[in-house]
Amino acid sequence: GFKCGIVGLPNVGKSTLFNALTRTAAAQAANYPFCTIEPNTGEVAVPDPRMQEVAKIAGSKEIIPTRISFVDIAGLVRGASKGEGLGNQFLANIREVDAIVHVLRCFEDDDITHVEGKIDPVADADTVETELMLADLDSLERRIVQIRKRATGKDKEATTLLPVMEQALSLLQNGKPVRVMLEGIAAEDLIILKGLNLLTSKPVLYVCNVAEADAATGNDHTAKVAEMAATQGAHTVIISAAIEAEVAQLPDEEAKEFLDEMGLEEPGLDRLIRAGYELLDLITYFTAGPKETRAWTIVKGTKAPQAAGVIHTDFERGFIRAQTIAYNDYVTLGGESGAKEVGKARDEGKEYVVQDGDVLLFKFNV
Ligand code: GDP
Repeated sequence: GFKCGIVGLPNVGKSTLFNALTRTAAAQAANYPFCTIEPNTGEVAVPDPRMQEVAKIAGSKEIIPTRISFVDIAGLVRGASKGEGLGNQFLANIREVDAIVHVLRCFEDDDITHVEGKIDPVADADTVETELMLADLDSLERRIVQIRKRATGKDKEATTLLPVMEQALSLLQNGKPVRVMLEGIAAEDLIILKGLNLLTSKPVLYVCNVAEADAATGNDHTAKVAEMAATQGAHTVIISAAIEAEVAQLPDEEAKEFLDEMGLEEPGLDRLIRAGYELLDLITYFTAGPKETRAWTIVKGTKAPQAAGVIHTDFERGFIRAQTIAYNDYVTLGGESGAKEVGKARDEGKEYVVQDGDVLLFKFNV
């Protein structure tokens, strides 16, 4: 499955957020810098109102959402790249995730210690990013020595790797994250870059953790974070971890009332989960029948056989075709039979690129 790693300085609200996300007390929140020692992983359902629409039409008994994982990664401190705090462990954990959810403290509270002494989320983001860049610089500098030698000897693999490594190295040496080179990168270079598994090449989402009163509006701190994020092509989500922690414990009806009072339309966690999904470039397709409507996750650009493979490897191996109904057609035409009547249930083959919301029925050999 796909994983988002929750990172940030100590005491910014990571564990509070993670607990709310997974509705468990597994990652204990406490006013203590190294509270989260083991990385905790939690799977969350991706909220998608389209599931209910499809299920209603298909008469499904059950709805099964698709899921993504969040990992609460142990506290990073200044100097982590040199082994301070839980430095090396932190870096190893972050290497294993597909995207980074970076929590920034945008709430004032004199009772909660700030490790840097004052509330300045942009400076905090910079502190964390610097540690990640130093770690990347270190690992890349070590690896590139070998590759440079091999490249002069006309080693084919080394000569393809080298230009990508040189470009990443030059960015890091200029104090820039490797993420910057993702924009418009050639497909083959992207594969090479992903293979290098650098920390700063992973996509980032900034989560501004604000006080309850600022949850609907944001504040001066969140405005500065948004400005910074825009320069990096990164996204921001404003959340009050304290509200989310409370909402997570309420029954649905009460949760809705509580959110209404706060001027919020939906739980911030729903926005966060969806933003994480977008960050990972993921889309959803559906399978629907009387038994169940089910959502499945694929990376944007996935072709029909590989999309079928998410359900079962046999579906991919024996793929023949996919009966495909676009989500809007499915809903406006009243489902499969209605779509068939007007020729909107298409038969798609091996080269079809599955679209977000497609309702699919796979035909395959066993
Ligand atoms: P972590 O070290 O980043 O995982 O931070 P925690 O989630 O453990 O939070 C540290 C402390 O800050 C705890 O005492 C939380 O209750 C508190 N905290 C977290 N979020 C908020 C918030 O939005 N407002 C306030 N006032 N306190 C918060």
